[in-house]
Amino acid sequence: MVPPDIGARGHGRDTDMGVRTFIEGWPVYRQLTGSDPLGRGAAVQSPRSKSLEPRTETADSVARSVCPYCAVGCGQRVFVKDGKVVQIEGDPDSPISRGRLCPKGSASKSLVTSSLRQTKVRYRRPYGTDWEDLDLDVAMNMIADRVVAARNETWQDTDAQGRKLNRTVGIASLGGATLDNEENYLIKKLFTAMGALQIENQARI
Ligand code: SF4
Repeated sequence: MVPPDIGARGHGRDTDMGVRTFIEGWPVYRQLTGSDPLGRGAAVQSPRSKSLEPRTETADSVARSVCPYCAVGCGQRVFVKDGKVVQIEGDPDSPISRGRLCPKGSASKSLVTSSLRQTKVRYRRPYGTDWEDLDLDVAMNMIADRVVAARNETWQDTDAQGRKLNRTVGIASLGGATLDNEENYLIKKLFTAMGALQIENQARI
């Protein structure tokens, strides 16, 4: 990037001041003469970028969580404003990741706030050819009925030698990568209490 042909702008004090202001506002000039020789801060700021402030500065509160995507379990800080997630960043206090997130973890906010995210219960009946929306209460009752029925039908008190089992292999839990740490904790507790053995999550946190 080079300054335009400043000689063609004419002469006079005003012109000199204009040229001076222009040159001093040129990022390369500021980089070479100022306190930002690598051009990663003040030297490359425009009046507009100077007036911007990060979403993390204006958040009402910050919650700590763990990235849901993989077994590394990097720490995250979730910034909230007006009850909405406005930013998710790496947690510098995490002994696992020390503030870092990979590109996937860095995009966690999109997972939470994407307009493509499903927020309704979608159900396709046996032999149905299309999806339908269900009320959450209806869906929860359907799931609970099926869990109770499967557990009753497959419950094992003892094995063939009379040894205590107290288990069922008729129900299992397979979590997805988008379940967070706290949800996984509750799911593991619930399914173990119900006697299930196969309790798995994609991330295995
Ligand atoms: S997906 Fe990336 S940020 Fe998330 S836990 Fe794994 S390595 Fe860490």
